[in-house]
Amino acid sequence: MPAPSVLVVEDEAAQREVLTYNLEAEGFRVAQADNGEEALLLALEAPPDLIVLDWMLPSVSGIEVCRRLKARPETRDVPIIMLSARSEEVDLVRGLETGADDYMVKPYSVAELMARVRTQLRRSRPSALGALLEFGDITLDPETHRVNRAGKTLKLGPTEFRLLTTFMERPGKVWSREQLLDRVWGRDIYVDTRTVDVHVGRLRKALCAFGGDDPVRTVRGAGYALG
Ligand code: CA
Repeated sequence: MPAPSVLVVEDEAAQREVLTYNLEAEGFRVAQADNGEEALLLALEAPPDLIVLDWMLPSVSGIEVCRRLKARPETRDVPIIMLSARSEEVDLVRGLETGADDYMVKPYSVAELMARVRTQLRRSRPSALGALLEFGDITLDPETHRVNRAGKTLKLGPTEFRLLTTFMERPGKVWSREQLLDRVWGRDIYVDTRTVDVHVGRLRKALCAFGGDDPVRTVRGAGYALG
């Protein structure tokens, strides 16, 4: 799986650079925006795994960016950590009401912010941080790439492994073929959506190699979900 991607939205260049430097040092891929409008464009075009969002921004404010992203299905689940000056703190309650997942007041400790980034990603992209994933009798270890079902080790190809990782990170979530293409194959690769069906078929076969129910559900007109 590609490293988690973080979008940094901050109009002060020095702060933006410090955040970018530290996030890249943690192994994340970082995109930057210095105003709210650009942040919306970037986030909707290629939803990142997490957004660090400054409150006071030119053009569209951070709170408005947050509200709009939390209202769109493609970015609703992306964790947002808001940054604000102390004087704006009262307004942060409002920020959390619009769906921000966490916030920090400036001046903040970069180390503390990195810890909160990891906390949010552990919830939204657990496999990227090496956490063991479990669903029913299936366990997946992102570090060793080992998949077990009811105590037996399953053989999965690399694409099926990434597909299963994606499904197991969000049991019950319905993924469209386009979302799976972005997540499993990557944005820059041209693959036909029917390829997704082929690999889901292989994944189902591998998961049921030693018996057990097919845990992958086909949702007509929408895509696939686990459970
Ligand atoms: Ca600002």
